[in-house]
Amino acid sequence: MTLNNTTIFKQACLINGDWMTTSDRLDVTNPASNEVIATVPNIDGDTINKAVDAAEAAFKLWRKVPAPERGEIVRRWHDLIVAHTDVLAEIMCCEQGKPLSEAKGEIAYAASYVKWFAEEAMRINGEILPGAAAGTHIRVSREPVGVCAAITPWNFPAAMITRKVAPALAAGCAIIVKPASQTPLTALALGELGIRAGIPKGVLQVVTGKASVIGDALCKNTKVRKLSFTGSTEVGSHLMAQCSHDVKKLSLELGGNAPFIVFDDADIDRAVEGLLKAKFRNAGQTCISPNRVYVHNAVIETFQTKLVAKVNALKVGNGLDDGVDIGPLIDAPAVDKVIEHVENALRNGAKLLAGGQRLAFGSNWYAPTVLTDVSATAQCACEETFGPLVPIIPFASEEQVIGYANDTPFGLAAYFYTDNLHRAQRVVDEIESGMVGINTGVISAANAPFGGVKASGLGREGAHVGIEEYLEMKYQCYAMKNL
Ligand code: ADP
Repeated sequence: MTLNNTTIFKQACLINGDWMTTSDRLDVTNPASNEVIATVPNIDGDTINKAVDAAEAAFKLWRKVPAPERGEIVRRWHDLIVAHTDVLAEIMCCEQGKPLSEAKGEIAYAASYVKWFAEEAMRINGEILPGAAAGTHIRVSREPVGVCAAITPWNFPAAMITRKVAPALAAGCAIIVKPASQTPLTALALGELGIRAGIPKGVLQVVTGKASVIGDALCKNTKVRKLSFTGSTEVGSHLMAQCSHDVKKLSLELGGNAPFIVFDDADIDRAVEGLLKAKFRNAGQTCISPNRVYVHNAVIETFQTKLVAKVNALKVGNGLDDGVDIGPLIDAPAVDKVIEHVENALRNGAKLLAGGQRLAFGSNWYAPTVLTDVSATAQCACEETFGPLVPIIPFASEEQVIGYANDTPFGLAAYFYTDNLHRAQRVVDEIESGMVGINTGVISAANAPFGGVKASGLGREGAHVGIEEYLEMKYQCYAMKNL
């Protein structure tokens, strides 16, 4: 595909319904080749403030559009996203590096949130409550928060946007999206499809530029009433502080450090399959990727033998080529981090079972890697690796492994495999995590609440609660005259 030949390929910002460009540009590169594939505007804080003004004007009209009509427009956006799956996936593959089949899967997943929230627009209900005093009654209505901002990461260039934009639009909010600088092209294409779907000007805007400049301007602007951010805990807590001056509403999907536990009574084949899917999707660059794999001593040999055979069979290559399972990492520093974690584990007594080296394709490539006998305090067990590394840590008892699993500031996702129902319930009750996969490595879905506890964030995306993040309650107390 030549990107320029597709009409949804945009190298400009979507501001108040127009495509705006600047002479100051940022390069977008293909991580598979490091080749520059596009440039996008590097906009300044003043332009952001103009976008916020446009969003505020648009919000006043959009909130009045009846819910069925808003839902219908969001639904049309869904249909257009699905109809453009192939071209969106190619754009994503070129800017992000993930295999084309995974990119198509992400478009379907991203679209599923749009469909879900298009329907939820019709279910923004209120409540009538008994009055506290004679002659009174209480009504609770829900209203859109107002102008929202979304700052999104590069690992899921479409889904991280639709999970925020679709509920905002369905709720009646206007939203400004700042995609990651590495992956703005998918976001801009989604913006173009939004125009075609009939989303009014100013209701959805997509801006590109330096993260700190745009982040500062959005956080400082008191007309922005809500920020939804997905990314690192470090940046999330910085944004949280920046939003404190006017107490903006916040949703934060931050870092994880997911444990993946294989008990001695687990179905080992299913555990291996589940780990492969959860770990190597997007080359391990997902916030719910299993980061620490705890395997009971009694089954560790069998588990390792089966896992290593499957890992060695994974095909690494350019995401556009047929049959590729794993593409490049996003950039060279991402590879450096994996190397640092592998070297640290080996220095602390771990053994290499598979991979363990950069690949000759270029600076952004690293082989899918398995280490065993990793120390429970190794760097890779304490920090998110965000790469194709499986560190296996042996354990002896349920109590010990729950201690390991919870010994982290994070609490996004956790996985465990057991065929014992009693153990399953005990472990679910003990584990400190917003999401738990029991005998599965695949947990995300539009109708499920995605989000974490502890330093992994605030709020939930998806499910019926996902729209609440874009709504405020208004309690009205009515005192009736005695007739
Ligand atoms: P990741 O490791 O996923 O890149 P980051 O937290 O660094 O996580 O980035 C997530 C998003 O936050 C990206 O869109 C990035 O551009 C943006 N970002 C990074 N630093 C800042 C900042 N200081 N202010 C606002 N946004 C930022």
